[in-house]
Amino acid sequence: MSRFFWLDEDDAVVAQYGGYIDASHRWGLPGVRCPTCDTTWSGTGHCYPCVDLSQLPERDEFKKPRPEPFTEFARLRELVRPLAPPGATLPPGTGFGPLVGRASGKLAAFEWLISVVLLRRDALEQLQAEGVRGLLAGPTALRFRQKNPPEFLELQIEPRGRLHPDCIPPDVPPPCPTCGRFRLTRPDEPILDAASLPTDRDLFRLGNFATMVIGTERLVDAVRRLELDGITFRELPTR
Ligand SMILES: [Zn+2]
Repeated sequence: MSRFFWLDEDDAVVAQYGGYIDASHRWGLPGVRCPTCDTTWSGTGHCYPCVDLSQLPERDEFKKPRPEPFTEFARLRELVRPLAPPGATLPPGTGFGPLVGRASGKLAAFEWLISVVLLRRDALEQLQAEGVRGLLAGPTALRFRQKNPPEFLELQIEPRGRLHPDCIPPDVPPPCPTCGRFRLTRPDEPILDAASLPTDRDLFRLGNFATMVIGTERLVDAVRRLELDGITFRELPTR
């Protein structure tokens, strides 16, 4: 049985280096005002940097974050669906295309914008050469202050696998049947649902908690061997 690790930003490195990236995706699905659960919301953790909307005639409708009625949200989602990976759930707030924004100062190999993960190009190539599977990355559009800036790509980390029901409190209601909103706060002691975990890749997000990024032992071993900075690991139990 493989071992799985919860990946996160290394706060100590962030504090030591002091660099920053301030950026958002060029396009995105709007938030939603849902008539079923009576909530206005937009999610984080679903992003597809490799999905390019530049040829879509309606692309300008994906530029401005704002809430929309569910029917309008659903119309826009259907316009994007053919361009997205098969089976992608595409919740409100899903981001597409390159991160556009500014960067400055000293940066680590892994850089995080909440749960968006950027990786320096040389580090990505080293991990691929080490045999880490399923690393998919899209371009970024960052403006740097310094000369000869590093090149960062954004990892397209798709949802696969789930938190085990045993770590979800029994009073959490099921997802909204219309908009899919799931009112789950992150468990203190997450457990992965072993039967749901992918076997074809070494990096993924959890389908029912997309801000949690999970890596396999193969990925973690390669990161440690290569001494890539900006990332921490916590092993999670599976059941
Ligand atoms: Zn809803």
